[in-house]
Amino acid sequence: MSLTISNEQLQAAASQYGTPLYMYHAEKITAQYQQLQNAFEGVYARFFYACKALTNLAVLQHVHSIGCNIDCSSINEVYLALKAGFNPEQILYTSNGISFEEIEAAVEAGVSVNIDSLSNLEKFGKAYGSRYPVGIRLRPNIMAGGNLKISTGHNGSKFGIPIEQLTEILTIKEHYKLRINCLHVHTGSEIKDVEVFIKVADIFYDLVPSFPDLQVLDMGGGFKVPYQEGEKGTDIPLLAKRVGEVLNKFEKSYGKKFQVWFEPGKYLVSECGYLITSVNVIKETPTVIFAGVNSGFNHLIRPMFYEAYHHIKNLSNPNGKVKIYAVTGNICETDNFAWDRPINEIREGDLLVIENAGAYGFEMGSNYNARFLPAQVLLRDEKMLLIRKRDTMEDLLKNQIGLSY
Ligand code: PLP
Repeated sequence: MSLTISNEQLQAAASQYGTPLYMYHAEKITAQYQQLQNAFEGVYARFFYACKALTNLAVLQHVHSIGCNIDCSSINEVYLALKAGFNPEQILYTSNGISFEEIEAAVEAGVSVNIDSLSNLEKFGKAYGSRYPVGIRLRPNIMAGGNLKISTGHNGSKFGIPIEQLTEILTIKEHYKLRINCLHVHTGSEIKDVEVFIKVADIFYDLVPSFPDLQVLDMGGGFKVPYQEGEKGTDIPLLAKRVGEVLNKFEKSYGKKFQVWFEPGKYLVSECGYLITSVNVIKETPTVIFAGVNSGFNHLIRPMFYEAYHHIKNLSNPNGKVKIYAVTGNICETDNFAWDRPINEIREGDLLVIENAGAYGFEMGSNYNARFLPAQVLLRDEKMLLIRKRDTMEDLLKNQIGLSY
């Protein structure tokens, strides 16, 4: 079975459900998960899908069906995970900057929790003491990741408790007799260099003696997937090998087996996703040919937010003469999906597909300009399944309360 969605299937979906449309390939998600499983065979590791990348319920159900665990970044994601069938033991809640009420709700739900501030750690101690095991999200002061907006472990980052506050962490731990069973670090997204994870492991290594209840070394997510042609992703087999070595070292030194957890988002769902758009307008100016599509940063913000590259193909004219285009959206800001991009000749009405759009695409979408969020379709067993309807005017008005004038 092909793990990509063919041009014909994308066109068929566009004619059945209209555009803009998100389409995902279920078996591609499975294949990515299996690659992790295969690479880490024999390594004591567990994977938690970072569902912030894509929380469509059917996608969560699929991830659950293949045996993967789930990582959540809000209490609502925890509730979605429960709804999708995950049991609390499979759910991890890695928090950042949240209210203590959310932590209480997570404990109530019985899921694993990583706490990322001294203030919430203290509140946790007061509320639960040693009654509920807890993890700590640390800031290791390591710069990593594809760009600053997605670098989360450096010394100016808001994420995690700075490692230099270890004494304060230990004081709270001792005072409330906390059972800290997990240390967590997520240094960023799109980490190509495997050694970043090993640096994190080295930090954990030195911390082990301070945390006698420690069982889990959570290294976060951030595996890179290739976006540009010829680009390389994280070398997963090499990562598995290096992590295996590190775990052996831990076991030898401390006489104890630690489990490694990872929280991949993009790695599992980026490449499975496609955003299909229709070309509204071709605008030939003296300097640039603009192809204006019926979408924008309200549906896929990555190019505008992080200058992310997404490959774009003309589905309707795959053999047309290649020209250079700026592909833009229809939003009232400059919302280019691509600049100076060679694409087969684009005509008004053509279908363009934006690839590698599964992660942080629909999920970061909005109704800006009172535009509808696209429908979402899952290709599973070669069948197209509608997994979210396109918004309607009723959706835009659903929570609004008009006044009488
Ligand atoms: N874990 C945490 C704590 C994160 O903040 C993120 C992304 O922001 C992830 C995992 C997933 O990252 P990625 O999608 O790059 O794998």
